[in-house]
Amino acid sequence: MKHMAPPVFWRNMKERYAMVGNKCLSCGSITYPGRAPCVKCSSTLYEKTRLSGKGKLISWTVVKTAPTGFEGPYVVGMVELEEGPLFAAQVIGEEQKMQYNAPVKAAFRRLLETEDHLLVYGTKFELSG
Ligand SMILES: [Zn+2]
Repeated sequence: MKHMAPPVFWRNMKERYAMVGNKCLSCGSITYPGRAPCVKCSSTLYEKTRLSGKGKLISWTVVKTAPTGFEGPYVVGMVELEEGPLFAAQVIGEEQKMQYNAPVKAAFRRLLETEDHLLVYGTKFELSG
């Protein structure tokens, strides 16, 4: 078997862990996860930018019947990041405390356990207010 470059998977994991997005060099808009071309102006020139991980909750829903590997019930929310992009992720916290515009911050947590017991980690948000 041919030697392979580090898989994209791990590079993506690193970017997700550090919350690195793309900042368009033409119009300044930020995408997370990073996308090119820019969703606003179609420019392909960008630089990597580290996001604060802070945002606010703009909508959420309770998932009562969890998919295989996930522990339910849990909350999935749409978070508007401080830098602008919207990001959907699991939200940690009491359902009663969730409200529109509630401040949240990113946390790197276990997302799920696969059938062969591999633990998958990723970004969740927790209430910070
Ligand atoms: Zn742009």
